[in-house]
Amino acid sequence: FLGSHLIDKLLKDGQNVLCIDNLYSGNLHNIKHLNKNKRFSFIKHDILEPLHSTVLIEKIWHLASPASPLLYQNDPIRTIRVNYEGTFNLLNLAKSHNSKILFASTSEVYGETKNYPQEEDMPVFLSTFSPRACYSEGKRIAETLINSYREKYNLETKIARIFNTYGPRLNINDGRVISNFIRQCLKGDKLTIYGDGNQTRSFCYVSDLIEGLSSLMETNYYYPINIGNEEEISIIKLAELIKTKINKEIILDYQKLPLDDPERRKPCLDKAKKYLNWSPQITLVEGLNKTIKYYRGIFQG
Ligand code: UDP
Repeated sequence: FLGSHLIDKLLKDGQNVLCIDNLYSGNLHNIKHLNKNKRFSFIKHDILEPLHSTVLIEKIWHLASPASPLLYQNDPIRTIRVNYEGTFNLLNLAKSHNSKILFASTSEVYGETKNYPQEEDMPVFLSTFSPRACYSEGKRIAETLINSYREKYNLETKIARIFNTYGPRLNINDGRVISNFIRQCLKGDKLTIYGDGNQTRSFCYVSDLIEGLSSLMETNYYYPINIGNEEEISIIKLAELIKTKINKEIILDYQKLPLDDPERRKPCLDKAKKYLNWSPQITLVEGLNKTIKYYRGIFQG
């Protein structure tokens, strides 16, 4: 999902792109339109296996890893390995090509916290036994590994802590809240609200996210940095908003809140604004309109 949008931007900027994916959560349909582009190639490969390239690589965008709780909890050991061993393999590739490497980390590294908005250097409390730990701990060890490579081998590394992102090409069955709600509304199913729906998230539209990552790649900033949107909304309000846009008659179906589901998520973007000269531009309403249009297209075939 993110990778396909990033590739579109890189190709538009005149770069050559080699896309690597094992298709665990990725979807070939998202890159189908690039089939005839001579500056684009695709390899089905799992980054748990080491990578070699005879072509000189200048930049590595490491977005590998499932990001939806449903998918990353489906195979926790794999999630940990992709983030640790996979990152290790990509760092070695970066080292052998002396290329820059950008890592997609996550807001999950903040765990459950009473500090809002979430700042990059605040203390965190995370349980290693949480069902979410395979992802949050995997991302945390990857951040540490990346920093160790930077110090030891003088690599140019970047770490983006990505908050909830949505938009066209997000798999409709991915299990995340925006794709779930839109799918349920379009199909006339009940909207599944986990818990009382008062938990919040701050949703970033995909084009903003890609701009943020691109700016980060071009800076020398190597500390972890938040990329997201500051517009915070409760899940229940999000449900109402999507309902009004698609079908007001849809019924809400309250279900059990998953264990350790964070109560509030809102990024502090001070560092991104200062060091990347970047801030998101698309409001939630605008982004939802574009996303709903995309999913309607899928449903109408
Ligand atoms: N959620 C929900 N209904 C759904 C899917 C998710 O109420 O059908 C809630 C979920 O419990 C969480 C929030 O929406 O509080 C965001 O979930 P998502 O899986 O999109 O991302 P997360 O931020 O949890 O990684």
